[in-house]
Amino acid sequence: MSLIEQIKNGKLWRYLGGVHPKENKTQSTSLAITTASIPKHLIIPVKQHIGQGGQVIVASGDRVLKGQPLTASDSFMTVPVHAPTSGTIEHIAQYPSTHPSVTPAIAIKLVCDQEDQAIPPQPALDYKQLSTSELQQHISQAGVAGMGGAGFPTAVKLNDRQPIEFLLINAAECEPYITSDDVLMRERADDIIQGIEILRHMIKPTLCVIGIEDNKPDAAQALETAIKTLNLSDDIIVRKVPTKYPNGGEKQLIQMLTGKEISKGQIPAQSGIVMQNVGTVYAVKQAIIDRQPLLSRIVTLTGKAFPQPRNVQALIGTPISALLSEFECDETKAAAIIYGGPMMGFTLPHTQFSLTKTGNCILTPVKDEIPQVREADACIRCGECSEVCPVDLLPQQLHWYSQAKDVKKLNDYNLMDCIECGACSYVCPSQIPLVHQYRIAKVEVRANDAELAAAAIAKERFEKRNERLALEKAQREQRQKEAAEKRRAAATATTGEDPVKAAMDRIKKSKAAEQTPANGQVSKGSAVADAIARAKAKKAAAASTDTAVPDTPLPNNAAVIAERKARKAAAKAKREAEGSEPVPTATSPAIEAKKAAVAEAIARAKAKKAAAQSPQSETTETATDTSAPAIDAKKAAVAAAIARAKAKKAAAQSPQSEATETATDTPAPAIDVKKAAVAAAIARAKAKKAAVKETQSTQEKTTEVADSAAPAVDNKKAAIAAAIAKAKAKKLAQLGDK
Ligand code: SF4
Ligand code: SF4
Repeated sequence: MSLIEQIKNGKLWRYLGGVHPKENKTQSTSLAITTASIPKHLIIPVKQHIGQGGQVIVASGDRVLKGQPLTASDSFMTVPVHAPTSGTIEHIAQYPSTHPSVTPAIAIKLVCDQEDQAIPPQPALDYKQLSTSELQQHISQAGVAGMGGAGFPTAVKLNDRQPIEFLLINAAECEPYITSDDVLMRERADDIIQGIEILRHMIKPTLCVIGIEDNKPDAAQALETAIKTLNLSDDIIVRKVPTKYPNGGEKQLIQMLTGKEISKGQIPAQSGIVMQNVGTVYAVKQAIIDRQPLLSRIVTLTGKAFPQPRNVQALIGTPISALLSEFECDETKAAAIIYGGPMMGFTLPHTQFSLTKTGNCILTPVKDEIPQVREADACIRCGECSEVCPVDLLPQQLHWYSQAKDVKKLNDYNLMDCIECGACSYVCPSQIPLVHQYRIAKVEVRANDAELAAAAIAKERFEKRNERLALEKAQREQRQKEAAEKRRAAATATTGEDPVKAAMDRIKKSKAAEQTPANGQVSKGSAVADAIARAKAKKAAAASTDTAVPDTPLPNNAAVIAERKARKAAAKAKREAEGSEPVPTATSPAIEAKKAAVAEAIARAKAKKAAAQSPQSETTETATDTSAPAIDAKKAAVAAAIARAKAKKAAAQSPQSEATETATDTPAPAIDVKKAAVAAAIARAKAKKAAVKETQSTQEKTTEVADSAAPAVDNKKAAIAAAIAKAKAKKLAQLGDK
């Protein structure tokens, strides 16, 4: 059985993922479509589709009529916008876009005059007599872009460049609360089938399938009736699919209806499939048969904050606040004002945004209708989001990388394949606003891609410019070469000889003439060389004259110089002779004798001090200290002996140095001898005194037998020392007399 036969027999395929949220659709389908009033003003965004915005062709103060284009472009990717009613352009300025990013975008503010005066009506087009490209042009100029949410320019998809097997009409409308397509199909099924016929004429598919969820039986019935009425049952079939979210995703519905999977990077046309939303098909019918551009759309106003949820036909650019006001929404009850459905919509920060071509719902739920909004918790990596993703992405990874703004990783994890269905956010136990994060991340990825593309274009332009310059240079050189060749050929033809060859010959002859003078005459070249040589010689002679020494003899100073040198030598010899005389040094005998006398005096002073301190300390010291006076006496005696020895030595050296010492040094030995005698006498007296005191002390401390012998020994030594000192002093005195 062929694929087409399988489809006609009712076969359906399945896709992975998806969720089953509460539908909440019936509350807005009880009333027929209501036409909203013309508001006081409209805010019409210049760009309401995927692609570039058109060129604004009106200015502030212009009066415009209903249906008049406000922007223009010659590209199918740039869809124009039109004046939805008559009025005056107040200004063209930046307004927050009705988009999750709320980024400012150019919009036209039209103050409505309430006359709703339209441009002259156009006759309906006989589309069967028009080519695909002509119809594409009409559809594009009518401003038709995808009404299902994506906003892709419709005309771009309707070309006949490749064979199309299936034209699929997306009537699933799977998102909870939204019923705008449902009521459109119920009320305007004939128009929709006419629109499908226009598309079938353009792309000539083998089969057209309308995919609709089984929760819209009335709409499905209305379509089937219209198809039968127009006797198109063999070419157009209505296929009901089990309700599941997101059945309305393009790839998901294609897979369900045909079993074909559109792989990454492919577009459906490459698989022989074109899909259009049911609302878009209706807009195509209006553009071709009614000759009316896209000026309004059906929007579902629902949620318990509205006293009566319903679908209204509102002008593009109508402020949200005007719709809420006209249909008596109690904003104080609304927990949020959501643009779109609960799954793919986003919360508006205020109501000054305006209705766009892709706006299918304004949801104003009260608190008990939606989950309580709370701070998102951290991701617990439960994996629920991955389970329900219909595109088989890894939403938690996209969450990390969107937060980190890692564009490369977002591309690696196929962020741009995300259809923003919101199924992951719906099941996330941490209530992370995943789809909201992805939308913002997509804007960043697109901006990054645009930057890279611009850089690539700039690089290509630079390289092409360099190539062009190189080519132009080569061509210029070639032209110059060819022109020279032509001139040479022309001259040869005129004169009978090659001008280049003739010139070369002349040069050769001239050189030869310079090198070999004929008939002994000086050639022109050698004459010049001679002139240069003469000039150089003259210049050298002039320089020599400038630096010559004058002839006048200089005075002879040799005798004076010799005399001065002799004087200097004599003075130097004299200084050296004077410098060789013996100078008393620090080690001369006279100085040594002086030092010895000073040392002896210090020793005497110390001995005297020790002797003076001895009686005072004696009474306070312990028994073991009683030998101290004796020791001091001994020290004093030794010091005196040393002093005497030094004095003696100094006296012995004194006669040797006497001859060289000055007159003032002569009395020194006599003084030293005298001092030594005095010192010896003092030492003896001290020793004697110390001995007396020691004897007294010994008598008082008769119990200290062990120590009593020491003073006696010291007394003896002191007596000996005194005798020696006396003898030495006597000897010194004799020497001094000599
Ligand atoms: S469902 Fe939420 S918590 Fe669970 S893995 Fe996904 S993002 Fe994390
Ligand atoms: S990652 Fe995208 S496609 Fe997947 S469930 Fe989330 S919103 Fe839907």
